[in-house]
Amino acid sequence: MAKNLEKPVVNALSENYKNERKLNFLEKLYLPEIFKGLWYSFKQMFKPKFTMNYPEEKWDPPAIFRGRPVLVEDHGKERCVACGLCARACPPLAISMQASETDDEKERYPDFFEINMLRCIYCGYCEEVCPEEAIVMSKDYDIVFESREDAIYDKPRLLVPKEDLSERLEYLRNYKNRQFGSFWNFQEENNIHSVRDRDRDWNTGLSLVDMVEQQKRNDSTPASKSWS
Ligand code: SF4
Ligand code: SF4
Repeated sequence: MAKNLEKPVVNALSENYKNERKLNFLEKLYLPEIFKGLWYSFKQMFKPKFTMNYPEEKWDPPAIFRGRPVLVEDHGKERCVACGLCARACPPLAISMQASETDDEKERYPDFFEINMLRCIYCGYCEEVCPEEAIVMSKDYDIVFESREDAIYDKPRLLVPKEDLSERLEYLRNYKNRQFGSFWNFQEENNIHSVRDRDRDWNTGLSLVDMVEQQKRNDSTPASKSWS
C-alpha cells in the first residue's frame, strides 16, 4: 500500500484537528452570522455607487485608454500612406491592406485596409509604429459582432475624423514627445509629404546618364585650395 494511504488523512473539519476553532452554540446555529451578512449588504445600499448600468450608461474613457484601433480621417481622406508598418508590427496579424497610387501629394493610399477585430489584442503597436499618426487607438470599447465577417472592419468602418480623435492625438503628441524628447517632434504637415516635391527640390534637370557624367567631371576636377 502506498505510504500516504496507511493512515487516514486528518480531516480539516474534524474536532480533533488541533487548529480548528470550537464553535459556540450561537455560531452553530449560523443564523446570527447570516443576519450580520444581510446587515452588511443593507448598509452598502446607501453608499456611493462605483458601478454603471451599462449599456444604458456609457463610460467615457480617458485619452490613455486603448480601445478599437481606427484610421484617422484628415480633410475627408485617410492619412494612411499604406506603408505596411502597422501590419508588419501587429503581433496577431490582424491588419491587411493593399497599397495603391494617387495623384494627391501623398502619392500612396490604401486601396483596401482591414482589421480583423477577432484577432486584435488592443496592444497599440500599430499606433506606435505608424509614421503618419494615421492609425490610433480610439475610445470605442463597445464592439459587438453577429458573424465572423462582421468582425472584419474595412476602411469605411475604420475611418474616424481627426476632430473626433483630438484627445487621443493630443495625448500621443505629449506622450511621444516625452518619450523621444527633441529627436521626435511630430508635425501635422509631415502628413503631406511628397517624393515628387523632394525630387523637385533636388532636381537638377539632368538625366541619370548626365548626372553620372557630371559626377565624373566633378570628381576629376581638383579641389580648390581656397574656401571663397
Ligand atoms: S492594436 Fe495590436 S493587435 Fe490590434 S491591430 Fe493594432 S497592432 Fe494589431
Ligand atoms: S503604419 Fe500608418 S501609414 Fe503605414 S500602413 Fe499602417 S496606418 Fe498606414
